[in-house]
Amino acid sequence: MIKNIYVIAEQRKGSLRDITWEAVAAGKKLATDLGAELTCVLLCGKGGLIAEQLAVEVPKVLLVENPVFESTNSEAVISTLKELIKPQGSYLVVMGASNSTLDFAPGLSVALDAALATDCFSLEVKDGRLLASRQIYSYKINSVVSFKNSDRVVLTLRAGSFQFSPAGEAKGTITNEPCPIDESKLRKRFIKYVEAEKGDVDVASADIIVSIGRGIGDEPDLEMFQSLADTMGGVLACSRPIVDKNLLPKYHQVGTSGIEVKPKVYLALGISGAFQHLGGIKGSPLLIAVNKDARAPIFRVANYGIVGDLNEVVPALEEKIKSLKG
Ligand SMILES: Cc1cc2nc3c(=O)[nH]c(=O)nc-3n(C[C@H](O)[C@H](O)[C@H](O)COP(=O)(O)OP(=O)(O)OC[C@H]3O[C@@H](n4cnc5c(N)ncnc54)[C@H](O)[C@@H]3O)c2cc1C
Repeated sequence: MIKNIYVIAEQRKGSLRDITWEAVAAGKKLATDLGAELTCVLLCGKGGLIAEQLAVEVPKVLLVENPVFESTNSEAVISTLKELIKPQGSYLVVMGASNSTLDFAPGLSVALDAALATDCFSLEVKDGRLLASRQIYSYKINSVVSFKNSDRVVLTLRAGSFQFSPAGEAKGTITNEPCPIDESKLRKRFIKYVEAEKGDVDVASADIIVSIGRGIGDEPDLEMFQSLADTMGGVLACSRPIVDKNLLPKYHQVGTSGIEVKPKVYLALGISGAFQHLGGIKGSPLLIAVNKDARAPIFRVANYGIVGDLNEVVPALEEKIKSLKG
């Protein structure tokens, strides 16, 4: 039976990443369901302030400070977490699914001799057993995973799947732990951060977004979509294939490997609704989808849907908006 739940906090440049709070929410729920103790682990260059933010939500924070954690180095992270967690014998380790945990979660599960389930979108405890839901076969099928040895498990959680509501009353303890890393012995070296290109359009803070996907075709009339965005008072964004085809620059791409947006209205044109795309849409915008395939997954999450061809729907939509605006 799992007695210890460790939530691994993720920070970048000294600020906690949102996904950490989702992992905290999942960790809290599991701690209640399993009757286990919840601890948050923070690996940081200097982490006192962030540790305090965590301590108002969880009963215990373990803080390991070392300059090596100012950047991402999976080798250093795995060695440190192994040292902290393995002696407990039984543990459930929870963290967000992100680019950096993609790098260290598999190695950590090996180091901890633990089972690994990645990118879980739901967790439950049934008859004392932990069940994790994740998607397989290119995200076409949901599978529920149970664990042969449920005493040692590492889980990564899909962004946007676990709702965090701050309670702010935990008064948790913060314990400084020694860092076992000798940086000179690490085989991996951090070289530098490369900042993403900043564009002329600020998609991240736009209230109205018109987003285009592969459904716009190979020789699209981009003017038509830009014109609709202008008429709506919004900006043009896109899914990844549009960037891959060099139709729009990367800073227009919404999704887990693009930017996170928080609009009031999100109009998805010819976008199927892959989770990597939806993962970039935060909050609960009014999501309107136009797609010629009535079974496109985006219709499962859209508030309103139009089944139709973009080349017909987009001009009609713009005309209607113009006439409503007078
Ligand atoms: C590690 C990783 C990270 C990723 N990160 C991102 C990310 O950040 N952002 C992102 O968007 N994707 C990302 N992806 C890719 C993602 O998995 C999907 O492949 C991508 O989102 C699909 O884009 P799409 O919906 O535009 O294209 P498709 O899935 O090809 O969908 C096109 C849709 O257009 C519809 N359509 C076609 N013609 C018309 C028409 N004439 N009128 C109306 N509808 C039409 C089709 O029915 C279809 O539903 C990532 C993938 C991986 C593996």
